[in-house]
Amino acid sequence: MQFKTLAIHSGHGPDPAYGAVMQPIYQTSTFAFKGVNEPGPFDYSRSGNPTRKALEDCLAALEGGTHGFVFATGMAAESSLLLPYGAGDHLIVHDDLYGGTYRLLMDVVAKKGVDVEFVNLRELDHVRAAIRPETRLIWIETPTNPLMNLVDLEAVTSIAREHKVTTVCDNTFLSPYFQRPLDLGVDIVLHSTTKYINGHSDVVGGAVVVKDEAMAEYVDFLLNAMGTCAGPQDCFLVLRGVKTLALRMEEHNRNALAIAQWLENHPKVRSVLHPGLTSHPQHELAQRQMTGYGGTFSFRMKGGEAEAFRLLSSVKLFTLAESLGGVESLIEHPWSMTHASMPEEAREKMTITSDLIRISVGIEDSRDLIADLDQAFSAV
Ligand SMILES: *Cc1c(COP(=O)(O)O)cnc(C)c1O
Repeated sequence: MQFKTLAIHSGHGPDPAYGAVMQPIYQTSTFAFKGVNEPGPFDYSRSGNPTRKALEDCLAALEGGTHGFVFATGMAAESSLLLPYGAGDHLIVHDDLYGGTYRLLMDVVAKKGVDVEFVNLRELDHVRAAIRPETRLIWIETPTNPLMNLVDLEAVTSIAREHKVTTVCDNTFLSPYFQRPLDLGVDIVLHSTTKYINGHSDVVGGAVVVKDEAMAEYVDFLLNAMGTCAGPQDCFLVLRGVKTLALRMEEHNRNALAIAQWLENHPKVRSVLHPGLTSHPQHELAQRQMTGYGGTFSFRMKGGEAEAFRLLSSVKLFTLAESLGGVESLIEHPWSMTHASMPEEAREKMTITSDLIRISVGIEDSRDLIADLDQAFSAV
């Protein structure tokens, strides 16, 4: 079945109890056994819950995987995958990634003695050179937040496979509608469902999808052992959100590209970082690996921080807020907001400088969004 059909029908049919067409919210901590030593399909909601299972199966279908796992937040999913590593393990991490992932790796994982090495995964020679016998994992994010750099998933995963190193791809920015990392050789796909998958800025959540039986058993064990699962109410909301994922992504993509093209011609903008523009250094890879560009991208102001702040204070329709992927348009300043938890030198090295603005383009009418930016630029 095709993506739009899977998004509506995967994971649940009419409920067997009363025929409810939508998956009910099984708000229960525990489930009655049928008899001594005879549990039903669920026994305790940390281990499994029917509302969560419906979402897990739906996300697995959309990513082309066999098993999905749903966590309380994107960071809960990341923690669950990363905390088992210990002293002596070596992890290779893309040197350009979400600030919260950087904080978890540096301030929690590395402090346990895990060797966390940041490598530019765009340079395949650097990837090859970094792999050692102790290397356990390559952590990829593509496109990256907020710089919109891409990693060639087929190339990096084929190197990883040669050395039997597990690969993880954070697919939050594109959602399975525009990019399917499992199809390109990645072992584990990770999402902050807070963003496009839920899409309505009313839930925080995370997910992992895999396609290998042994890996599925391991992630299932981690989720249950660590207790990082999402509650049934949140799962219900994300499942409702995912039904319109395809329609929303098309609109986010169209609006963002229109705004990126408009910004590229604006005299107060130094550069636009959007993989759908021919000026993007990896535009060719974007067309090969992704089927769309999503709704979030960044641009640099010619006038630096002062003009960036003036623009951020002058928008009216765009909301100044962290997060992304919702139906409403948001604008933010990575240097002082989403990426402030990174040390200054790390931000500068990555070129997350104070002239950079990130926007999450919603599904409003793009004419209204451009008019808002236009009035804000005239106040700069
Ligand atoms: C937001 C985000 C996360 C973290 O997810 P939460 O749901 O906020 O915990 C991880 N990766 C990326 C790319 C994100 O944008």
